[in-house]
Amino acid sequence: MIIVMQNSHTPEHVDAVVARVLEMGFRPYVSDGEETTIIGVIGHSDAEQLAPLQYLPGVANLVPVTKKYKLGSRDFRPKDTVVPVDGREIGASKLTVIAGPCAVETEDQLWETARAVKESGASMLRGGAFKPRSSPYSFQGLGKPALEMLDAVRKEFGLAVVTEVLAPDDVDLVARHVDMLQIGARNMQNFTLLQEVGRSGHPVLLKRGMSATIEELLMSAEYILANNNERVVLCERGIRTFEDSTRFTLDINAVPVLKQVTHLPVIVDPSHATGKWNYVAAAARAAVAAGADGLIIEVHPRPSEALSDGPQSLRIDRFCDLMRDLGPLAQAVGRSL
Ligand code: PEP
Ligand code: MN
Repeated sequence: MIIVMQNSHTPEHVDAVVARVLEMGFRPYVSDGEETTIIGVIGHSDAEQLAPLQYLPGVANLVPVTKKYKLGSRDFRPKDTVVPVDGREIGASKLTVIAGPCAVETEDQLWETARAVKESGASMLRGGAFKPRSSPYSFQGLGKPALEMLDAVRKEFGLAVVTEVLAPDDVDLVARHVDMLQIGARNMQNFTLLQEVGRSGHPVLLKRGMSATIEELLMSAEYILANNNERVVLCERGIRTFEDSTRFTLDINAVPVLKQVTHLPVIVDPSHATGKWNYVAAAARAAVAAGADGLIIEVHPRPSEALSDGPQSLRIDRFCDLMRDLGPLAQAVGRSL
């Protein structure tokens, strides 16, 4: 249930509603908008039980939420959320392009890529320190030394950095070294991890599980939002289908669907979605045309030598070509790059 306050409400009215909601055994979530204040009631509630709240002073009306997710829904917040990440704004009219290697491998590889990413006009760098690999025998990432390299490179180039966190116990450590925490597709429903990144208050890039519905993605976002962290960016990264000519199938529909039902920013990962570098640019352009707020793209100076995801990584020159192509396309959909 969402409680909409009257325009003329006072802070005391809000306090009284919050106190009553708590007394009833629910969790209130207050959102102060420019036009109005709304209070989300979190917990299992039914309309009848909450109906008396409409008579409290300052309350305009109660809006039942039929969707399972509340805080992420447009009913709760009609306007687009803009997620600040170290001075950048994900979800504003400027497209956010995040680029970099699948995994941090060496200092040279990271610095060479970061320099190119910076020069191309992209605003954020990606690079895995802890890699969730299907095989325990594959390269698992350099771990803490990679975090230190990411920290150094973000300071050198003024790039905001995102990296994946795999374990709840690592959240604080990873958050100290980078600007944004990535929850990978394989961990989209690791609820303990979601709660922990929620509590961290750090910006979160939440990737859609490869077999997750859009509603399940939004329920996972809800775990982060319900832990008082509003800085959530959603990422469509391809889903499993019967099609096997690409690694996954980019669910381009997810972009307009998500933009309609949630206020959270939506970005697309054309690298994992296609799994093949030669399809990445087309998928990236499609994502921008469909209304995505940004892209996350794997770039490697020498893809043939990459320790993970080489086949889907763009060479630096090809990434720069893509950045050039995206400019006019961004403009055509009312955005800048
Ligand atoms: C990645 O970004 O390198 C990654 C492992 O992505 P996903 O979780 O979408 O597979
Ligand atoms: Mn990867």
